[in-house]
Amino acid sequence: MAHPCQIWLKLRPTMTSGDFGREHAARWAEAEELLRQLEGGKKPVDGASFPKRFREIGGDLALARRRMYGSAITERLNDLVIRGHAVMDRSRRSGWRSFVEFVTGGFPRAVRSEWRLFWLCNAAFWIPFLGMLWIAGHDMRWVQAVIGTEGMSNMEDMYGGRSQQIAHLRSEYGSNFMMFCFYIYNNVAIDFRVFAGGILAGLGTMFFIVFNGLHIGASAGYANHACDPQSFWTFVAGHSSYELLGMVVAGMAGLAAALELLEAGHEVTVLEARLRPGGRVYTLRDPFSDGLYAEAGALFIPDHHDAVLRYIRRFNLPLAPIPSRAMVSIYYLRDTRILASEGASARWPVELKPEEQRLGPVGLWNRYITPTARKLGDPSRPDWPPEEFRRLDSISFAAFLREQGASEGAIAILRLGYFDLFGDGIDQTSALFLLRDTAMRKDEKQTYCLRNGNDQLPKAMAAAMKDRIRYGCAVQRIEQETARVRVVYRRGLETETITADRVICALPFSILRGIEVEPGFSPVKARAVETLPYTSVCRIFLQFRTKFWARQGLPGSANTDLPIMWCWDPTLLQGGPRGILEAYIAGPTARKLVGMKETDRLLFALTEMDKVYPGSRREFEGGGTKSWDEDEWQRGDYAWCRPGQMTTFGAQLATPEGRIHFAGEHTSAWPGWMQGAVVSGLRAAREVHEAAA
Ligand SMILES: Cc1cc2nc3c(=O)[nH]c(=O)nc-3n(C[C@H](O)[C@H](O)[C@H](O)COP(=O)(O)OP(=O)(O)OC[C@H]3O[C@@H](n4cnc5c(N)ncnc54)[C@H](O)[C@@H]3O)c2cc1C
Repeated sequence: MAHPCQIWLKLRPTMTSGDFGREHAARWAEAEELLRQLEGGKKPVDGASFPKRFREIGGDLALARRRMYGSAITERLNDLVIRGHAVMDRSRRSGWRSFVEFVTGGFPRAVRSEWRLFWLCNAAFWIPFLGMLWIAGHDMRWVQAVIGTEGMSNMEDMYGGRSQQIAHLRSEYGSNFMMFCFYIYNNVAIDFRVFAGGILAGLGTMFFIVFNGLHIGASAGYANHACDPQSFWTFVAGHSSYELLGMVVAGMAGLAAALELLEAGHEVTVLEARLRPGGRVYTLRDPFSDGLYAEAGALFIPDHHDAVLRYIRRFNLPLAPIPSRAMVSIYYLRDTRILASEGASARWPVELKPEEQRLGPVGLWNRYITPTARKLGDPSRPDWPPEEFRRLDSISFAAFLREQGASEGAIAILRLGYFDLFGDGIDQTSALFLLRDTAMRKDEKQTYCLRNGNDQLPKAMAAAMKDRIRYGCAVQRIEQETARVRVVYRRGLETETITADRVICALPFSILRGIEVEPGFSPVKARAVETLPYTSVCRIFLQFRTKFWARQGLPGSANTDLPIMWCWDPTLLQGGPRGILEAYIAGPTARKLVGMKETDRLLFALTEMDKVYPGSRREFEGGGTKSWDEDEWQRGDYAWCRPGQMTTFGAQLATPEGRIHFAGEHTSAWPGWMQGAVVSGLRAAREVHEAAA
């Protein structure tokens, strides 16, 4: 969600890295001395206090990182933490170390030194296996000789048609648990037979390997030619070395989830309807001259969005701070333009209470919004909201402001440029929903963007796993069975199917509600999928011959009550004479622009823009637009909540439905932000990983 106001900037006195270093210098020096003694094998007098000190240093490090206190402090603390960890773990480590050394070094060395045996065993399995697989297509009598008629009829029961395998096995073994026990028993028994066969000079081992090759080859050959091969091979693939096949889509949530799962060693396939990654992180370049670009989706990256910043650092992407002067907006209200430089002397064209007259937008915000937002606690906690604040979900944000004593004039000012850009505006949006967003931003001090476009982030994430992403694959149907999930998707003119142990569904609900799900979701989830609203947003980008507004000393940010709503200069950090001003239009006005011709949209925005930035008509060259409602793969922008919705189904947005897990900004405490998407992706990946463990 775009956020033109940096109002939290002014709320708290900030502690500099110098203050922080001075305040804790003595404690860090003591910890350093203690460490030196412990590392040297000495027993210091207050050695017992070491774990406590170590925890404190860890806390300092986390704080220093979050507040970005610079490398001098963070590196020093990081060094202390690593050394402290080494000292504390010294005694525990030896057993683990030797185990890890065996797995990573000793065992591979032993296999390499016995390479002849290794290849002999492989040949002893694969040659009979492939031979039987081939022969099954020519003469079934061979298969019958190996697995017998009973084995053949078992294979038909299991793989004669789709969806039979698990049901068949369960009826045979009584329950999921017994079936699981049988798998363990069977696989361990084979291992023991192969191992024990070694006492007959290896002949027994060879016998069992060849026998398994023949038996499995005959079964696979029979399933291939006489049963449903897809049913057989998808079942087998699910039980090969990786036990899990997760599927997600390639928005920020899906990319984060997939990266995390791949790194944890899982098999992952990403289905993406578009031919590019990133979904709502989308940089527009084509409509503009001189290499200029503008963000059609995610724009700002605040300094406290740690999950996003971690990926930016990991891929070494060029983070650029947005100067705070750029965030100070012009106000355009009731045909009057008010400059921030006018300060308390500004004459607002609305009726204000005497005590509101000199407050200005920041003062009004601090008076009516900050006190409640501060009390809301941590909205990212699973047990949020606290009971006493649930009431705020039953009223609109406008009603909340009235309850706080704001006059209609003050509300007219406060709604501009930020709150009205959610949903259908503050009269329709849950007070709790907007207060949560405000509370989540309380530590924000600086905001950033990526130089050369935010789309570099999803592109870098996708490049790290490009062979796992299937582009141009539009999910159409999700079928859930007891032990796996089948996803039907369209690729070009073909309909294809993929089966997985679990699925991470990172689709916006605006899309999911058009996808068949069998069996249907639980009633609460189904209601959330059907009714969660998405903000309509249309962004109109006007390119001008020069950045004439900068020459006039005007900031490139304007909060207006015009239909163009919020204006922003996306070329603020881009060189060259030409510039772009955008109109960021949300809610009912954005919906009126759906279906309108591009040229008409541009001219509509230009007429309004000229009121805020006189000279626009004269300097205009052309431009581009993006309506997220028109986008086939989004059908809306970011999720929002009407009064009552957060407390009705807010807690259920993220809960899994059987083997289907959910990710996406809408399932997080940061809807409308990349941070929300990434955090939700990491959470869903963790759920899947733990379920597979
Ligand atoms: C106008 C606008 C302004 C914003 N401003 C900011 C901002 O300033 N800062 C910020 O941090 N965030 C901002 N955001 C929000 C941020 O972009 C999103 O929260 C985030 O990108 C959402 O990621 P996601 O993975 O949840 O969903 P998406 O990005 O929507 O990913 C969903 C993916 O699913 C794919 N898909 C859809 N249908 C199918 C299908 N049938 N089969 C397969 N794939 C399918 C889509 O193509 C898409 O790639 C803004 C968003 C918009 C649109």
